[in-house]
Amino acid sequence: RAKLHNRSGYAYFTRDMGVEIRERVRMMHALRAAFEGERLFVVYQPQIDMQSGKTVGAEALLRWRTEEGNFIPPDQFIPIAEYSGLIVNIGEWVLRSACFELMQLRESGFADFQIAVNVSQAQFSHPLFMQSLERAIRDSRIPPNCLELEITESMAMTDPEMLVNTLQQIKRMGVRISIDDFGTGFSSLSQLQKLNVDKLKIDRAFVSEISSLDSEASIAKMIVQLSQSLNLAVIAEGVETQEQANALMAFGCQYAQGFLYAKPQTRSELRKWLKS
Ligand code: C2E
Ligand code: MG
Ligand code: MG
Ligand code: MG
Repeated sequence: RAKLHNRSGYAYFTRDMGVEIRERVRMMHALRAAFEGERLFVVYQPQIDMQSGKTVGAEALLRWRTEEGNFIPPDQFIPIAEYSGLIVNIGEWVLRSACFELMQLRESGFADFQIAVNVSQAQFSHPLFMQSLERAIRDSRIPPNCLELEITESMAMTDPEMLVNTLQQIKRMGVRISIDDFGTGFSSLSQLQKLNVDKLKIDRAFVSEISSLDSEASIAKMIVQLSQSLNLAVIAEGVETQEQANALMAFGCQYAQGFLYAKPQTRSELRKWLKS
């Protein structure tokens, strides 16, 4: 990683940094072209009620397939989308796609289905975000309480006041809010209470360490207990083994998502999954 300052205090610009920036700009142009060329698409990862085994909903996850047929993972292109501002339009499109998918699923008889959509800080703080959210719900005619927005803890730290206001408006509409990757963002518990969210999502890192730890010391267990005392729903992400699922159920966690149950699915795969 390039340093910004040398020992004498003068900023210098390394070759590596030039390469890094040029690569970022290249990715940004490629991402915009992919969005315009409709090479982005949304997949849906089922969310399961562990006791009954029933699928209760899905998380919408963005995918980028290049013209050559390669996939670029969201962890690589979402930061570019955020940094460049492209996330505002792309994110709105994901939101609308998810709402219309939900409407179609409801019409096919999956009446109680829920869809969760990831929302970035840049979208959230955009002045037109509430309007685009309202429009997506109105145009797709879904009940707002079937839609959930996933925010991250770090958003609570950048601009708490803005966040509290926006969340209040969203809740008034009836849309639900969950905190993604919970436990990794160092937000304070008093912040959490003020935010008035509906659900915590236990980060994959705490799920994957379950078997190697004694369960009393497990952070996953602490998050489940916290959610119970705050009266929030809780879901575990990245559940890969039955052992993890059993431990989570023993902790009192009701919902899960992960490869143990299902990978993220295309629209048609999701339909097949729901019918089987
Ligand atoms: P996330 O929201 O925490 O999503 C969960 C990630 O865990 C997804 O990665 C999912 O495919 C992966 N996953 C699910 N189950 C398992 C499992 O059992 N094992 C393992 N190893 N992984 C599992 P994905 O799809 O690569 O997305 C990465 C991140 O990109 C997401 O993390 C989210 O922060 C972001 N992202 C994806 N789509 C969007 C979007 O439409 N908008 C925004 N703003 N961010 C998005
Ligand atoms: Mg998420
Ligand atoms: Mg997550
Ligand atoms: Mg995560």
